[in-house]
Amino acid sequence: ATPVHVIGGGLAGSEAAWQIAQAGVPVILHEMRGVRGTDAHKTDGLAELVCSNSFRSDDAELNAVGLLHAEMRLAGSLIMACGDAHQVPAGSALAVDRDGFSQAVTEKIAAHALITVVREEVAGLPPEDWDQAIIATGPLTAPSLAEAIAAETGQDALAFFDAIAPIVHTDTIDMTIAWHQSRYDKVGPGGTGKDYINCPMNEAQYNAFIDALLAGDKTEFKQWEGTPYFDGCLPIEVMAERGRETLRHGPMKPMGLTNAHRPDEKPYAVVQLRQDNALGTLYNMVGFQTKLRYGAQADIFRMIPGLENAEFARLGGIHRNTYINSPVLLGPDLTLKSRPGLRFAGQITGCEGYVESAAIGLLAGRFAAAERRGQALDLPPQTSAFGALLGHITGGHLTADDEPGKRSFQPMNINFGLFPPLPDGAIRKPDGHQGRFRGKDKAMAKKRAMTGRAIADARAWLG
Ligand code: FAD
Repeated sequence: ATPVHVIGGGLAGSEAAWQIAQAGVPVILHEMRGVRGTDAHKTDGLAELVCSNSFRSDDAELNAVGLLHAEMRLAGSLIMACGDAHQVPAGSALAVDRDGFSQAVTEKIAAHALITVVREEVAGLPPEDWDQAIIATGPLTAPSLAEAIAAETGQDALAFFDAIAPIVHTDTIDMTIAWHQSRYDKVGPGGTGKDYINCPMNEAQYNAFIDALLAGDKTEFKQWEGTPYFDGCLPIEVMAERGRETLRHGPMKPMGLTNAHRPDEKPYAVVQLRQDNALGTLYNMVGFQTKLRYGAQADIFRMIPGLENAEFARLGGIHRNTYINSPVLLGPDLTLKSRPGLRFAGQITGCEGYVESAAIGLLAGRFAAAERRGQALDLPPQTSAFGALLGHITGGHLTADDEPGKRSFQPMNINFGLFPPLPDGAIRKPDGHQGRFRGKDKAMAKKRAMTGRAIADARAWLG
């Protein structure tokens, strides 16, 4: 059979190549390290972990990334098998010996009869005679390929860094303080005039908030030193440094908004949150991209009226990161709409982290192999971790209220906010539970119900 070409032998590309080969289809894996390095990788090994050696929680019952581990093991993941074989003690997390892990992946790939590894940089889009290819070149995609991708997708569709605003679990926002309203009740395409959640501040609260931002602990930004910030992506603490009023005239302006609980009180400033996924379980803080340290962020953002008890699905950050606007560019099976022989996988699609990148590589590999074998393409159910993560990338993201040309798709780790809510009655008191059922016990029961549903549905899908 004609081979499938995989570009990039990182977490996603190695997993994709393995899945394709295990399905009986030949693969050529193109990896540039050995010929050309990146700013973060230190070795020539496949699936090198560039920073931490942790795959994060391995708890498949109570943690979303632990659940993803479990689904990947069920799907015969090479990355999980090598991670398990090179585990080091790390409590309930799965951490690995990075050299042993990378060496094991490199050896398994090299030994597979259907995989050929070519050490070369693919300096542009795959040639037309590669009828099926997967681009899995990661957050540090080599410049010439990145430029070719930008030329194919449009410059606006490729980002070279992420500027991430914090994302909040909707059910932790206090709606006795916050209210739903779009500025000037404007009804956008697909909108209702009530698309945003608004958190009001009086003058004293605003000043205290600005003081906290200015005093907050910031992270270093070495990789971007000397790089000018892009318009519309200034970190909020940098805006606050430019003047106490800057935020009140920028993302926190109160115009066109009336406090639904206290219509007579004109808010001095307003923090707006915008729906972040189609399910409505997550909202992002509009214009709140930040370099504040994680610990400082949670403390400072809980000063905002209505967010006192907010739980964050992710905190804000700014990193060097090449990724495409997947919800617009990719079909549900990760193919580029403008060139269906081409799939994307890994962090370049807008997932985040070693495990998530490998999981999207696994799916891209399975889809490519099924296509080559003329089999029907079967998408994972949205209730599984595979499906929830894929949904974030290819379409779960809500863009109805976005201004034209302004992107809001941002990379994300797997988290429970990406899963469809449970049906009524799905959360049950454990046997022998005494007293009222709420708080932590109920939250744990909810996670158990979600992960139980996910594993069952993933099993049926793989089955
Ligand atoms: P990669 O693993 O980066 O693999 C891409 C591969 O493509 C590389 O081997 C590269 O050499 C190759 N390549 C690139 N361009 C070409 C080309 N044109 N031709 C051929 N080959 C090419 N995630 C975590 O979970 N924990 C962390 O602590 C963490 N820290 C990070 C720190 C930094 C500085 C960076 C940049 C990222 C970090 N990440 C972390 C994210 C993590 O690196 C990614 O999630 C993961 O490696 C992505 O997998 P991938 O396969 O998509 O990309």
